[in-house]
Amino acid sequence: MNLEITKAIKTLLNVPQKIVIIPHKNPDGDAIGSTLGLWHYLKNKGQDATIIVPNDFPKFLKWMPGTEQIIIFEKDASTARQLINNASIIFTLDFNHLGRIGQLQPLLEDASATFVMIDHHQEPDDYAKITYSDVSMSSTCEMVYNLIEGLNDVECITPELAISLYTGIMTDTGSFKYSSTTSRTHTVVAKLIERGAKNTEAHNKVYDTNTPSRLHLLGCALKNMVILEEFNTAFITLSQAELDANDYKKGDTEGFVNYGLTLEGIVFAVIFIENREEGIIKISFRSEGDFSVNEFARAHFNGGGHTNAAGGRSDVSLEDTTALFKSLLPQYKADLNA
Ligand code: 5GP
Ligand code: MN
Repeated sequence: MNLEITKAIKTLLNVPQKIVIIPHKNPDGDAIGSTLGLWHYLKNKGQDATIIVPNDFPKFLKWMPGTEQIIIFEKDASTARQLINNASIIFTLDFNHLGRIGQLQPLLEDASATFVMIDHHQEPDDYAKITYSDVSMSSTCEMVYNLIEGLNDVECITPELAISLYTGIMTDTGSFKYSSTTSRTHTVVAKLIERGAKNTEAHNKVYDTNTPSRLHLLGCALKNMVILEEFNTAFITLSQAELDANDYKKGDTEGFVNYGLTLEGIVFAVIFIENREEGIIKISFRSEGDFSVNEFARAHFNGGGHTNAAGGRSDVSLEDTTALFKSLLPQYKADLNA
């Protein structure tokens, strides 16, 4: 990582600080893993640090060491507000514009702390004093490792820290298979295992803890899959009624979108999930190859992300959203058939 950024962060951490670490709303493995990894590091260095997440996160991430100390803004707004107001440094991890943190946005906009962004998404906003942004990175967890290495503190990595970063790299790379996985990623993962990350345990705890109802919901999702061969595209819908019928819990639909891409020839996979409480359709986009779902999500569904993985939303019904989606595909036909 850039020497100037490392130096600037080193200078900040040379004195005791009141630190708050914040990931994006609906935190995933990389968001939770990177915030926990940084939190363990800062605590090990004697800093006063707290993680605040905008809302709750799935059960399959709750085994990670330190999760029990995370403040959930939706459940404990007054503690979170106090911590943010008193913070001297706020690290924002795994997102790059404040619209990604839901109800925490106005609090961060008003905060007087020094902001440090660590993130690997495209097109970062300019809200942080120190911005460590690198879209070539597999994960924010890999970047937190780079920071710790840049600060000459690899020896400070405890097994708890190591497993946090390992888990985030594992989930954000689809278990080391996405094109963002480099030889450097594997080197980092090797170091984390050396430092005590129990790799098989992370895989088992994240991927082998299904409930029967989640598998039934997956069955429903796969039954609903629509394949549009003309556009090398497959999409899945899940209505609120279908979620309810299968005892939906947060995180149950994680990874469903990827099934479309396992079909031979399919390069664009999408899942539309109705959320009655928020009055929106939450959308996940995935692609293989050059088709940029980041651009697609930005252009049509108020979202963004990476070239091959992005998210977005729609404010109209599930039926109207999929109709709009289908009407957009002809203009991308050449890109999808490339
Ligand atoms: P997922 O589909 O797993 O929720 O998200 C895929 C990627 O897109 C993640 O890197 C996530 O941070 C990003 N992403 C998801 N939803 C949104 C959104 O509404 N807006 C933006 N800008 N990025 C999103
Ligand atoms: Mn990430």
